[in-house]
Amino acid sequence: MKNSMTRLGRFIIILLLIIIPKGSYLQASERDKVHLSALIVTGQEMSHYWKNSTPIFKQILEDAAIFKVDIAQSPGEGGDMSTFNPAFSNYDVVVLNYNGDCWNDATKQNFVEYVKKGGGVVVIHGASNSFPEWKAYNEITGLGGWGGRDENSGPYVYWKDNRAYRDYSPGPGGSHGVQWEFVVNTRAPKHPIMKGMPPSWKHAQDELYDRLRGPGENIEILATAFSDEGTGGSGREEPVLFTVKYYKGRVFHTTMGHVSKDQTTAIQCAGFVYTLQRGTEWAATGKVKQKLPKDMPDANTVILLPQYNSINP
Ligand code: ZN
Repeated sequence: MKNSMTRLGRFIIILLLIIIPKGSYLQASERDKVHLSALIVTGQEMSHYWKNSTPIFKQILEDAAIFKVDIAQSPGEGGDMSTFNPAFSNYDVVVLNYNGDCWNDATKQNFVEYVKKGGGVVVIHGASNSFPEWKAYNEITGLGGWGGRDENSGPYVYWKDNRAYRDYSPGPGGSHGVQWEFVVNTRAPKHPIMKGMPPSWKHAQDELYDRLRGPGENIEILATAFSDEGTGGSGREEPVLFTVKYYKGRVFHTTMGHVSKDQTTAIQCAGFVYTLQRGTEWAATGKVKQKLPKDMPDANTVILLPQYNSINP
């Protein structure tokens, strides 16, 4: 009897050894499965260099191992925009890396319908400033700058008295000082995108957008950075990460990520990379299942991820 129990015991242990790793493996593969589709919209980017940034954004998203990424490239500046008709509704999330000629009416309408019905949108840096005259675009992106934006575009929105503060004073929208390494302060630690993020972390050298203005409706500020007047800034805590709710659509907006012809430092920052990956998943699904990697910067030290240091011709 004792012998057979021992044999049974061994059998159960061996069975568990076989089953448990297999079970964990299945869960892991389920978790990591590429199940979301993302479309990067690009092709024109005033003051920026989309040919450098777009392949890196694609790589950053693919490295999250949950996105299949396509690129919709518009005609060049002054080109025939009537041919530019991305199939937004085929995607879980549309990533905007575009600031240029106006889209045709059908494309504009398709985009707004896509967001209204629950499509996800990610807005990166230069795309904050697109289409100053297009009302729905500004409602979707929340805040923007330049392009003649002023008090008619909506209030300045910044962080004051521990909340998103709306300042209706007249003046131009959109400015930045010199590029510098600035500290990003988490303001919504419980938001799925921010969960586990340090309270403050140092961002790599970048432009810190300030004095952005827009409709600013249904926005939640996730993180801010102090725009030091010594660097040519506003002296305010400016929003750098925020979300916008537009009908059923979810929008994640990062004002960080300046890329020039010979510099991609800002988008090599671990904090930029991880918030972009997490924000894109949240825009697509309303949840964030990615684990936050351990190499997040703290308030004193920038962390650059060398794999995103690629300059393309
Ligand atoms: Zn820029």
